[in-house]
Amino acid sequence: MDSDRSARTALIVGAGVAGLTAATALAREGWQVEVVEVGPPDATSGWGLCLTGPSLRALDALSLADTCLAEGYGMSTITHVDAHGEPVGTVRLPRLIDARRPAMAGIARPVLHRILYAEAQRWGVVVRHGATAAAMDQDGELVRVRLSDGTVRTVALLVGADGIRSATRGLLRLVSSRAFHGQMVWRALVPRPRWATGIHQFAGKTGTAGLVPVSKEQAYVFLTENGVGLDGRLPEAELAPRLRHLLEPFPARMAETLPLISASEAVVRRPVLTHFVEGAWQRGGAVLIGDAAHAPAPQMASGAALAIEDGLVLARELGRHDSVGAGLQTFVRRRRQRCRTLVETSVRIVALERARRHDEAYPLIDSCHRLMAEPV
Ligand SMILES: Cc1cc2nc3c(=O)[nH]c(=O)nc-3n(C[C@H](O)[C@H](O)[C@H](O)COP(=O)(O)OP(=O)(O)OC[C@H]3O[C@@H](n4cnc5c(N)ncnc54)[C@H](O)[C@@H]3O)c2cc1C
Repeated sequence: MDSDRSARTALIVGAGVAGLTAATALAREGWQVEVVEVGPPDATSGWGLCLTGPSLRALDALSLADTCLAEGYGMSTITHVDAHGEPVGTVRLPRLIDARRPAMAGIARPVLHRILYAEAQRWGVVVRHGATAAAMDQDGELVRVRLSDGTVRTVALLVGADGIRSATRGLLRLVSSRAFHGQMVWRALVPRPRWATGIHQFAGKTGTAGLVPVSKEQAYVFLTENGVGLDGRLPEAELAPRLRHLLEPFPARMAETLPLISASEAVVRRPVLTHFVEGAWQRGGAVLIGDAAHAPAPQMASGAALAIEDGLVLARELGRHDSVGAGLQTFVRRRRQRCRTLVETSVRIVALERARRHDEAYPLIDSCHRLMAEPV
């Protein structure tokens, strides 16, 4: 057993949500973990994230849910408002941890990053910035990885957690194609209006918008913009005025947020991209997790949930198997269908939104959240 344990060395590429949670989950199981991150520390942009029930449940298994709830904003409802400003229904989301704790949390990304980073370091994980995996080959049961600084690691496990544009996917020669869906998503950090105690989603003539609290003081506005091309990059100074303009046709409560969107630095605009690795996610002792393997559209607010679950399930499956290869195979078998369903449903929601068939999109979102609530 001891000799097995000494062979439990892992290199993770990417210190995002997937990489840091996998690092903690593996370290808790006795793995010696190093993470290489191409960016600097604290590079996460300042907008918010919704941690849905499955995210909180997976974070709870790593003893991190309460910290996220304390530093974020706990909530349990999504209120849908139609294009005339009339509430058309409030969905009460299931509380997946226990009845006392909220169903989900809004949280600022840098805050979540700080929590995940500190926990990984507490478990002895080493994070190296400004580095990446430049080449890899299989050495018997081990993986030999040459880093961009020229040093070499020989490890039992290589995890590609480097996001939707994963370079590790290329190193492993695993195939996926990204799809762009003619939409841009906007996020803007604003002071939290007092009425925003849950998620509010507003249907408009040109897209959907809403508000998610991320702390007692702050919330983020979200907006989906339809009918745009990938080439339509905007200069930063135009972000805040353009977002205000796009929000103008929305019902009264959404309009209240317009004067709060003042600084373009607090606004981001991202293309709606999805992808799913249809074939293998693993090769020998190497595997992809998080957005590197499956990236849903943000409409389901569940990409981070899948990323966190991946880290947890990966550590559990590797703990159950003597060989890394067998553990990775079971990991992929357990994750594939759930992740595919989420990606495919998010694509259907995007299509309904683009066709302005919001009434059909809402039940699909709700039923998908219920599916995601099922045990992992
Ligand atoms: C606009 C928008 C809103 C979203 N809102 C939500 C939401 O509310 N709730 C939710 O659950 N999900 C949401 N998502 C999805 C969520 O952000 C992602 O699913 C999640 O961040 C995936 O985590 P990840 O660690 O796999 O990838 P990432 O977060 O992309 O992290 C990848 C990390 O790898 C690093 N990296 C990249 N390339 C390399 C390399 N070659 N070498 C080393 N390091 C590298 C990056 O710098 C980064 O740190 C949203 C996505 C978008 C675009």
